[in-house]
Amino acid sequence: MTALTFAGVLQAADAIATELPPTPSWSYPALNATVGCDIVVKHENVQPTGAFKVRGGVSFISGLSEQERSRGLVTASTGNHAQSVAYAARLVGAQATVVMPESAPQEKVLATQLLGATVVTFGGTMGESCDHAREFAASTGMRFVSPGDEPAIVHGHATIYLELLQRHPDLEAIYVPVGSGSGAAGACVVRDAIAPGCRIIGVQSQLAPAAYNSWRSGQVESAECHTRFSGVATSRGSALPLSVMHPRLDDFVLVSDEQITDAMRLLAGTAHTLAEGAAAASLAGLLRDEHRPQRCAVVCTGGNADASELADLAASRHLAAAL
Ligand SMILES: *Cc1c(COP(=O)(O)O)cnc(C)c1O
Repeated sequence: MTALTFAGVLQAADAIATELPPTPSWSYPALNATVGCDIVVKHENVQPTGAFKVRGGVSFISGLSEQERSRGLVTASTGNHAQSVAYAARLVGAQATVVMPESAPQEKVLATQLLGATVVTFGGTMGESCDHAREFAASTGMRFVSPGDEPAIVHGHATIYLELLQRHPDLEAIYVPVGSGSGAAGACVVRDAIAPGCRIIGVQSQLAPAAYNSWRSGQVESAECHTRFSGVATSRGSALPLSVMHPRLDDFVLVSDEQITDAMRLLAGTAHTLAEGAAAASLAGLLRDEHRPQRCAVVCTGGNADASELADLAASRHLAAAL
C-alpha cells in the first residue's frame, strides 16, 4: 500500500494551478538529429525558483491548516527543495528554516535566504542535514517537512507528468533524474493512470546511488554520495517514493558525472537550454540506454547551475563526445 494516488495528483494540480502555470515541453531538431530519436524536453528550468520542486512546496503548503502554518516549517535540502519550501512559506506568510549540508552551492543558499527563509548549515551529507532538521523541529515545535516522504510534495511533483502525458500521450518513455525519487514515483503514478504503455526510467549519478540501491533491494538503503551535482546528491533512499518505484519503475540507469556534464553541454548547444547537472542526468540516461526509444521525453528538472557547473560547460570538449 502507498499513500500516493492519482486522485492526490489531480488535487495537487488544482492546488498549484493559480500559482504555477504549466511549463512548456518542446522538441529541438538539432537535439533530435544529434541523438537520433524524437525527444521532448520538459522545461522545469523555467519555474520561478528555477526547478520543479516548487510544485511540491506549493502543493504541500496548500494542505496545511492555519495552525500548522503558524508553527513554521523546517526542512533539509541541498538547494532546490529549500527554495521551494521558502517560496511556498512566503506565499502564506509562514516562517521557514532550511538545514543545508556544507556542500550546498552558495548560489542556492543565497537564493533560499532571499526568499525569506533562515538557512542553517549543518552536516556533510543530506542524511545528516535531515536528521538535524528533524531534531530542530522536535525542539522548536516547528513542522518538519520531509524532503522525500510527504505525499503532498510527491503529488505536487507528479503534476509535471500530468502536463507532459496529457500534451504528449504518445511518448514511449520518460527519463527522470532521481535524488530521493519523488519525481520518479510521481511519474509512475500518473503513467499508470493515463499512459500505461509509457516506460518510466530513473537516472542517477553512479557517485550517489542510494535510491538506485534501494530500488533494487526494495529496502531503504544508504550509499556514499560523491556526485558534484547537488540536485541528485542524496545519501539515503526515501521510503514513500520507494513504495512506488520498487514495483513500478521500469528501469533505472546510472551515469557518471562526466556523462552528465556532456549532457549539459548537449542541451546548451542544441536546445538553448541551461540545465543544472541534476537536470541533465535525464538526457545522460537516454544516451546510455541500450533500448533507446523512437520518441521519448527528458525532464529538465532545473536550471540552477552553480559556478562550477557553468565553468564545466565552457570546457572545450566537442558535443559529439557525449554520444
Ligand atoms: C531534487 C532534484 C532532482 C531529484 O528529484 P527527486 O524527486 O529528489 O528524486 C533532480 N533534479 C533537480 C534539479 C532537483 O532539484
